[in-house]
Amino acid sequence: MNNNIAQLGEPVLGEVATYVREFGPELAELVERMMTEMERANGIGIAAPQIFASQRVAIIASRPSERYPDAPHMEPLVMVNPEMLTHGSTEQVGWEGCLSVPGIRGKVRRYCDIGIAYQDLNGEAKSVELSGFLARIALHELDHLDGKTFIDKVESRRDLIAGTVWEQQCR
Ligand SMILES: [Zn+2]
Repeated sequence: MNNNIAQLGEPVLGEVATYVREFGPELAELVERMMTEMERANGIGIAAPQIFASQRVAIIASRPSERYPDAPHMEPLVMVNPEMLTHGSTEQVGWEGCLSVPGIRGKVRRYCDIGIAYQDLNGEAKSVELSGFLARIALHELDHLDGKTFIDKVESRRDLIAGTVWEQQCR
């Protein structure tokens, strides 16, 4: 098990993370550590609270992998102080997993199309439109910044299943 990644039950995963105000070397170092842990765990996204830093920083980094063979390929996108500004009316239910919730998958309803405003590592204001799987990853990571995991989002206990069962039945 990777002790560098906060696991379900760690208080930091339930906290509302604080806004980043300084865009200096400490932020760059935090993002570096997030990248390292995400890659080490073969993840496609990570939020700072997952490495015990209660700050509003998230990375999405979709790429095809054994766990997500259909994931689109993208350059990692680092978002500081991200906020969802817009969303379409369509929602979709899909399976999610989380580096902080090992061994469990959950069915979660998410918007299909979203617009996010954020700052980059230098504090520059940016925005991005995301849809489908990328919107799902982003919304999952944004939830972490508000102290929520996908387990808080499932609509029924029946929508939580063991990862091993998911491998057999759902992928
Ligand atoms: Zn997660």
